[in-house]
Amino acid sequence: MSNALFADDVIFLQRLLKSAGLYTDIIDGDWGPNTDAAVTAFETRSAQIAATLGTFDPRTEKNIQTLHLRAQEAARAFLRAVDGALGANITVRIISGTRTYAEQDVLFRKGRFGNPPPRVTNARGGQSNHNFGIAWDIGVFRSGAYLPESPLYNTAATVGLAAGIIGLEWGGNWTGFQDRPHYQLATNLSITEVRERFERGQSYIT
Ligand SMILES: [Zn+2]
Repeated sequence: MSNALFADDVIFLQRLLKSAGLYTDIIDGDWGPNTDAAVTAFETRSAQIAATLGTFDPRTEKNIQTLHLRAQEAARAFLRAVDGALGANITVRIISGTRTYAEQDVLFRKGRFGNPPPRVTNARGGQSNHNFGIAWDIGVFRSGAYLPESPLYNTAATVGLAAGIIGLEWGGNWTGFQDRPHYQLATNLSITEVRERFERGQSYIT
C-alpha cells in the first residue's frame, strides 16, 4: 500500500489490525499478503465510516484514520455533534490520534533525561490509551487560531457526551489529573490488561 498507516512499525500495525478482527495471521512484523489484505480492509471500512458519518478538516481526517474502527465511528459522531454547536467562528479538530509505542516514548523523553521542559506526558510507550487506537485529543479553534485553554472544552464535552455515543469517555471527568482535550472509548479494563490484549491481537473494546 502506498502511504499506509504505521508502515514503518509493522508489529504495531498487525496488533491494531488483529485486535480489530481484520488480521488473523501471526504477529511477526513481516508485511506479507495477509497484512496487505488487512490494511486494505481497514482502509475500506474507514472510508465507509467516513461516507456515513461525514468528513472534516484535513488534520482531523489524518488523525481519525489512525484510530481503531470503533473509535473512528465515535470520533466522527462526536465531531458531528459539536460541529457548529460552539458558536460562530469556533471549530473543533482532532489534533492527536494513535501513537506507536516508539512515538509515545519520544514524547515521554520531553522534559526528562536532560531534555528541555515541559514534560508532556507521564506515559511511556504501551502506557497510554493513545497507543491502542482508542483515544484522541481535540483542539478548539477560534477563527482558525488554536485555543490551548478555554471554557469551550467543557462546552464541547457537554455537547459531545449528550450525543449518545456508546462508550465515550472524557478526560475532563477523571478524578485527579483532568485532561480536557482527551476522549477515549471505554474498555472496562486496566491499562495493563488493554496492553496485553493489544499485543496478543485480542479485542479490548467493550
Ligand atoms: Zn489524550
